[in-house]
Amino acid sequence: MKFAIYPGSFDPVTSGHLNVIRRAANIFDRLVVCVMVNAVKHPMFTLEERVDMIRRVTEDLPNVEVEYSDGLLAEYARSKGKCVIVKGLRAGSDFENEFQMALINHKINPDLDTMFLTAEHQYMYLSSSMVKELGSYDVDLSDFLPEAIIPDFKARIQTLRQGG
Ligand code: ADP
Repeated sequence: MKFAIYPGSFDPVTSGHLNVIRRAANIFDRLVVCVMVNAVKHPMFTLEERVDMIRRVTEDLPNVEVEYSDGLLAEYARSKGKCVIVKGLRAGSDFENEFQMALINHKINPDLDTMFLTAEHQYMYLSSSMVKELGSYDVDLSDFLPEAIIPDFKARIQTLRQGG
């Protein structure tokens, strides 16, 4: 059984993430999308909210599961058994960071390999942080976020604007 884990912050899940999920779900028999705690980033959505949003947009993919972890990725992967890490690779900026993380994870857990799917050209410059910046303006988000979560995103922007 070919089994992969796709880790990330997914704050929130974008159309670029969903594209990677769909492609990875076609390659692997089983894919676990794992929402990870990033101590540096101050999240817009809680872990549970991020898990819930990913579940909603992957409902049609029977071999995809969604979980979260507040631990170290290499240890989380070890706890899951034989698997690979799958990551998306966008233009330029991702390379250094992802290369470093893949090496560190492999060092901590030598059985763990990371495989990269290159971003589709239309999502090459799409990131959750870019979407969060756009959220302050009246921009059509349908090219950036899965339709089903746009209302959640707009509602959160509204709450934050009101100081909530
Ligand atoms: P972000 O930078 O959007 O906050 P995450 O930390 O949630 O992203 O990213 C998780 C993984 O998904 C990383 O490997 C990242 O490179 C990849 N990824 C993020 N956005 C895209 C995209 N638009 N296309 C392909 N891969 C992406």
